[in-house]
Amino acid sequence: MASAQDRRAARVLAGKAASQAGRASGRQPLRAALMWVTRGRLGRRRGWPVVPVLGTPWQDTVSAERTGWRQRAAFLGGTDVFAVDYQICRRCGLGWVEQPYTVPQFQRCGLAAAGLAALRAENPGLHWHTLGGHFPDSEPFWSAAGAGVAGGYQQREMCPHRNPG
Ligand SMILES: [Zn+2]
Repeated sequence: MASAQDRRAARVLAGKAASQAGRASGRQPLRAALMWVTRGRLGRRRGWPVVPVLGTPWQDTVSAERTGWRQRAAFLGGTDVFAVDYQICRRCGLGWVEQPYTVPQFQRCGLAAAGLAALRAENPGLHWHTLGGHFPDSEPFWSAAGAGVAGGYQQREMCPHRNPG
């Protein structure tokens, strides 16, 4: 169980979602540069590809699990406490998110809602969906997260321009 202080820190972190995402493209040269500037601190999580740790409260990188997807993650004390994979197609005006996950001790601190809101704010005008179905126990989350959101995070197939991963 996280202390009250830690949970306060998580709420502060949620408040930074819109403004403080470090960003790394998936290109190899940049990855190499990041490896150098961080002196090899880059974590390898769950196998390929390497997801760099940028040292910012929120970061935007390649997804560790889905080829062609991005990952938006939040860090507290150097540990990732929230992550969601996403992909957008501007041609179709669509965005997809998959498996937003908050570590249990920091759930209900607003991290997932803030992360999704930041993605919407950075990519205005899109309709937002999930690629997979919603688990029954996550329906309340999706109902709340999708309220007033175009697309409502309803399940939708990937368009032909994007890779389902
Ligand atoms: Zn498309």
